Amino acid sequence: MQEKADSTIISISQMPRRKLARTTDGLEMTERGLLAVDENYMTTRPGVFGAGDVVTGAKTVVHAVDGAKKASEAMIRYMEQTET
Ligand SMILES: Cc1cc2nc3c(=O)[nH]c(=O)nc-3n(C[C@H](O)[C@H](O)[C@H](O)COP(=O)(O)OP(=O)(O)OC[C@H]3O[C@@H](n4cnc5c(N)ncnc54)[C@H](O)[C@@H]3O)c2cc1C
Repeated sequence: MQEKADSTIISISQMPRRKLARTTDGLEMTERGLLAVDENYMTTRPGVFGAGDVVTGAKTVVHAVDGAKKASEAMIRYMEQTET
């Protein structure tokens, strides 16, 4: 099927944004412009965690939910360890 049009606007964007790191002390980005986290999903700012596209780059909802679940578990472990 063909549609007639005067113009076409492509409005899909999937590039990382650095605003979060620029405006938050202690947050570092990777060379790919993604939020840097360790194996426990903790960012370079202690006690701050990250997951999803901002960490992995453009993926899917399933990947984002999986990362969020693992990051949540890591957050609980971190809070239990740092409890006084
Ligand atoms: C056009 C398009 C189509 C897609 N189609 C599919 C699909 O069919 N199936 C699929 O599985 N995946 C699809 N994806 C991918 C999917 O949308 C992402 O993988 C998923 O949404 C990532 O979830 P997230 O929570 O990491 O990020 P997001 O869903 O992007 O959530 C991040 C949230 O943080 C907010 N935010 C950003 N900066 C700040 C700030 N400084 N302060 C406070 N809030 C902030 C944003 O407004 C946003 O609400 C598609 C993506 C695009 C772009």
